Amino acid sequence: MGKPTGFMEYDREDTPSRDPKERVKDWDEFHEHQTEEKLKEQGARCMDCGVPFCQTGEEKDGKTMGCPIHNLIPEWNDLVYNDKWKEALHRLHKTNNFPEFTGRACPAPCEGSCVLGIIEPPVAIKSIEQAIIDKGFEEGWVKPNPPENRTDKKIAIVGSGPAGLAAADQLNKAGHNVTVYERHDKIGGLLMYGIPNQKLEKSVVQRRVDLLADEGINFITNTEIGTDLHATKLTKNYDAVILAGGATNPRDLEIEGRNLDGIHFAMEFLHANVESLLDSNHDDGNYISAKDKDVIVIGGGDTGTDCVSTSLRHGCKNLTQFEILPKPPDSRSEDNPWPEWPNVYKVDYGQEEAKARFGDDPRQYQVMTKKFVGDGEGNVKELHTVEIEWVTNDDGRKVPKEIEGTEKVWEADLVLLAMGFLGPENPVLEQLKVDRDDRTNANAEHGDYHTNVDGVFAAGDMRRGQSLLVWAINEGRGAARECDRYLMGATELP
Ligand SMILES: Cc1cc2nc3c(=O)[nH]c(=O)nc-3n(C[C@H](O)[C@H](O)[C@H](O)COP(=O)(O)OP(=O)(O)OC[C@H]3O[C@@H](n4cnc5c(N)ncnc54)[C@H](O)[C@@H]3O)c2cc1C
Ligand code: SF4
Repeated sequence: MGKPTGFMEYDREDTPSRDPKERVKDWDEFHEHQTEEKLKEQGARCMDCGVPFCQTGEEKDGKTMGCPIHNLIPEWNDLVYNDKWKEALHRLHKTNNFPEFTGRACPAPCEGSCVLGIIEPPVAIKSIEQAIIDKGFEEGWVKPNPPENRTDKKIAIVGSGPAGLAAADQLNKAGHNVTVYERHDKIGGLLMYGIPNQKLEKSVVQRRVDLLADEGINFITNTEIGTDLHATKLTKNYDAVILAGGATNPRDLEIEGRNLDGIHFAMEFLHANVESLLDSNHDDGNYISAKDKDVIVIGGGDTGTDCVSTSLRHGCKNLTQFEILPKPPDSRSEDNPWPEWPNVYKVDYGQEEAKARFGDDPRQYQVMTKKFVGDGEGNVKELHTVEIEWVTNDDGRKVPKEIEGTEKVWEADLVLLAMGFLGPENPVLEQLKVDRDDRTNANAEHGDYHTNVDGVFAAGDMRRGQSLLVWAINEGRGAARECDRYLMGATELP
């Protein structure tokens, strides 16, 4: 523990963000750098708890408590306080293959479970994590480190998101020959084509991908397993297969007027935006523009927030975000105690930008869309909504009930559906005859990852359903460990 009285002397200070009015004019990251002096103070706030809940990584009722990859948080807090940055980096990489991604985009369940958070704002763990890895790259400490010896085992990984990349990194470190197949033109999964540039700069993703390639991982892009290559070719030509294809089948809103032009799934909007930006700085026009439009985003989660911030950067005329759930309370409710993830009202980066531009948080709570109405030429013109309340039905489940007299009409010429995801999208599972669970994900136990098919493992969103990138890293690492055990009879992978 760096400074026993640190938590009494220093207040929490997050890494600063750029001015929301300015940052919506470009696609650069909104994060700024914190000075080392301030980071040391933030490290000094850590109490080096006997039971550090920050690193527990448990799940209760679908809510994450603590860090799912068990980052050695008190250790690197102490090392940063003592100016031992290289050692901090070494400890960070022990549990986390990609801290530059989690340091930028993880919602930080570690902070929700930090013991200091019971009485004070928690330790700024995520800021410290990002600073350690960014300094590691700046100082040239992060270098390709290929394995000294290779085995004769060949492994195919389907999907190059954080789960596939974490599995590839671990198996490559163990000396196996790893090939990653990706259907898109770039490696990274939702790190590349989901989370927007302003939250996660794509050069940061590419830098890690280049490092992995230099270490000997073979990446094959523009190849969809199940379509371009039959999935059974993989089981025939490789000693083991890891399925990490994500869960990007979007939930639809099948109501009157759904087929009108101008209504899109969030991922169509976000993917095309990043692709066109990377390919041509938007000059090719191959994206759905929100410029001068009345935009309505349906869905109040991370994906919805990314749609809000992207629409603002296009220069939308107006912006509203619908959320079907009630507005969360300002502090923890009685049924949401520490160390659970705090379900409290937060203004995320997209809403902060909308507020700076239009004066208000764009979210409207407990709103249900009843129908879309067109302009007579096939384009969406209006959304008809009603407010709802949540009531308990005879089975004890919470269900929405419409509130009479709250019907409203909203003008819109671009509607983005960001209502979550239902499971994996493609025929790989059928072709390999992998069983699915009742949510259509690949069926395999967390911690074991072996599907019903010999030598075929499943990890990340494809197994667990749409989740967090830190869980994808947890699962990729775990699937690599079990795959190594399957191939070699024993494993030293963590
Ligand atoms: C818009 C959006 C924003 C998000 N923001 C955050 C955030 O800020 N923080 C956070 O923690 N989480 C966030 N998430 C969730 C997080 O991105 C995912 O949980 C995580 O990326 C899952 O990783 P994965 O590797 O399992 O799958 P993915 O990242 O989905 O990667 C799967 C990859 O497999 C490829 N693939 C699929 N099928 C095939 C096939 N048959 N052949 C070849 N390739 C295939 C896909 O093209 C994709 O590249 C966000 C999700 C979305 C949709
Ligand atoms: S719970 Fe908070 S204070 Fe305790 S060790 Fe973890 S980061 Fe430090």
